[in-house]
Amino acid sequence: MNHKSGAILVLSGPSGAGKSSLLNEVINDIGECYFSISTTTRPARDGEINGVHYHFVGEEEFKKDIEEDLFLEYAFVHGNYYGTSIKPVKEALIAGKLVLFDIDVQGNAVVTNRLGDITTSVFITPPTLSELKKRLESRKTDSQEVIKRRVDMAKKEIQRISEYDFLIVNDNLQEAADVLRVIANAARVKIPGNEINDFVRSWEDI
Ligand code: ADP
Ligand code: 5GP
Repeated sequence: MNHKSGAILVLSGPSGAGKSSLLNEVINDIGECYFSISTTTRPARDGEINGVHYHFVGEEEFKKDIEEDLFLEYAFVHGNYYGTSIKPVKEALIAGKLVLFDIDVQGNAVVTNRLGDITTSVFITPPTLSELKKRLESRKTDSQEVIKRRVDMAKKEIQRISEYDFLIVNDNLQEAADVLRVIANAARVKIPGNEINDFVRSWEDI
């Protein structure tokens, strides 16, 4: 069964859980996708490109976008604002794409509330908190202070796993990628309540 419109796959999990690494592994195997590029007030890390990894903006511009109601959701995470702009997401959904979000637990709660019908959510975590710390340290993109903040935040985020459809423990990268591939392809065929009556009508006509 093919739906006319697209679907959303939310990936959440502590920073350093391996969300980007896993997405890189599966991106060529899950059909036409649009990776939602968030807007953030966080400074770019070494190697991050404006418009590719994030839209990097100042706090004033971010707050203006909030006032103009341009975000599907936004949140204050680790001392910075992060938000998902509505317009490109809407366009990708209309084009029938799988829209991928890398957003935090607060963002998932809003997206699930607003677009739960077409949304599948996955929480990704390393096997333990100490492994998370090790990975953040070996990534060498954050200061010790930032790493401590992210680890503290992870302890809170993990409490909200039950809000997600799926959990992936990213121990072995290839095995975790295999699971994500299956979930992403299934997300496309999730039954959206508001479309299913149209489908049944056209099916009965044949
Ligand atoms: P996120 O996007 O969730 O912040 P990253 O994909 O940047 O996480 O991964 C954080 C660090 O952990 C990176 O240095 C990455 O290479 C490493 N990493 C990711 N998955 C694994 C894994 N399964 N085993 C060991 N290291 C991993
Ligand atoms: P990082 O600074 O490591 O790129 O991201 C920090 C956290 O912010 C991660 O948990 C990530 O999922 C989350 N995040 C990134 N973009 C968004 C967004 O647009 N909305 C929300 N709610 N969270 C986001």
